[in-house]
Amino acid sequence: MKVRIDQSKCTGHGRCYALAPDVFEADDSGYGTVTRPDVDGAELDEARLAEHNCPEGAISVADA
Ligand code: SF4
Repeated sequence: MKVRIDQSKCTGHGRCYALAPDVFEADDSGYGTVTRPDVDGAELDEARLAEHNCPEGAISVADA
């Protein structure tokens, strides 16, 4: 599964990298970035948790 952040929606709350540090990290300004765009197993679970908790709906986890 592919993980993406729509940077036009991200406002830097930081929930993604707090909840899923194996998949996301903060950039220099505190905005989320994807460090592991291809996930499965436990990392997929983490990515979905972040997707569901991003206040801006900026994260997508999809087949392609
Ligand atoms: S949780 Fe959403 S809004 Fe917050 S940093 Fe991550 S992608 Fe951006």
